[in-house]
Amino acid sequence: MAVRMNVFSQLWYAWRRLRRRNRFTKVVMVDSMDGLPKRLESSLYVVGGSQPKWVVMSCPCGCGERIDVNLMRTQRPTWQLLLQGGQISLHPSLWVPKEHCGSHFIIRNNHITWV
Ligand SMILES: [Zn+2]
Repeated sequence: MAVRMNVFSQLWYAWRRLRRRNRFTKVVMVDSMDGLPKRLESSLYVVGGSQPKWVVMSCPCGCGERIDVNLMRTQRPTWQLLLQGGQISLHPSLWVPKEHCGSHFIIRNNHITWV
């Protein structure tokens, strides 16, 4: 039984790794949360026009969870957005609570490094 569980969890992890995305394909600017489409796909959304307030994305692990990243200093936790050449970097790293998928990753120039 223990061996079977081990094979199962190895397959589970392998499958999860396959579903993972390694980069976001584009950056889309929207004025407000109302401008977000239902399906975020592999895009990064910067919300708030010239004064970005949020970066919104679909979790790149493939779980479908939406991640809202706060950029406003008045709320905690806060992330730092670097938008350069149409590509996004966020600091510090991003994580999704364990109750969901527990993903932890870094976004640099739209590329994802899994932690
Ligand atoms: Zn996820």
